[in-house]
Amino acid sequence: MAAGDAGRSGPRLEAALGDITIEPVDAIVNAANSSLLGGGGVDGAIHRAAGPELLARCRTLGGCDTGDARITPGFRLQARWVIHTVGPVWHGGTRGEPDLLESCYRSSLARADEVGAESVAFPAISTGVYGYPTEPAAAVAVSTVRSTPTKVRLVRFVCFNAETFDAYRALLGSQPL
Ligand code: ADP
Repeated sequence: MAAGDAGRSGPRLEAALGDITIEPVDAIVNAANSSLLGGGGVDGAIHRAAGPELLARCRTLGGCDTGDARITPGFRLQARWVIHTVGPVWHGGTRGEPDLLESCYRSSLARADEVGAESVAFPAISTGVYGYPTEPAAAVAVSTVRSTPTKVRLVRFVCFNAETFDAYRALLGSQPL
């Protein structure tokens, strides 16, 4: 494929309410912490569902910087890959949080492209324990995925609560069919 073809029309964007660990996509994204050694929230759920092989593999990666992303197999998950990205902790928005969150989405799509993943499910990165407000986080997610050249054909934003789902639906409602 010619370089200019990537992302020419962009992926289809969807919002869904549910548990990302059971998404039947090529890759699911994990909102990890910089150690990549597991945690609570979506990270804990993904590690439980993928099995202990995931932690064993993550131990070999040497961590991950905020805004960056690493990729592993999905092991016992339906998804073939897990993309581990480290979102920013919210400090009020004055410490580069929007740029770092944008970088999480761009880096995750880059990892997906490297392995040829065509469908990717994202959780609402940083909006749990890390405290990023839901609506601005969703706005960063949607605008970044829309503006990032990628070969990914489907991006599904998997929301764990109604507030998050409503935020994504409000943003995606304006997308042409
Ligand atoms: P962070 O530390 O990046 O804030 P959290 O895991 O605490 O990560 O929360 C990120 C988002 O993931 C929150 O919106 C939370 O509700 C959501 N979440 C938690 N468990 C799941 C799950 N199983 N599937 C999808 N989203 C989840």
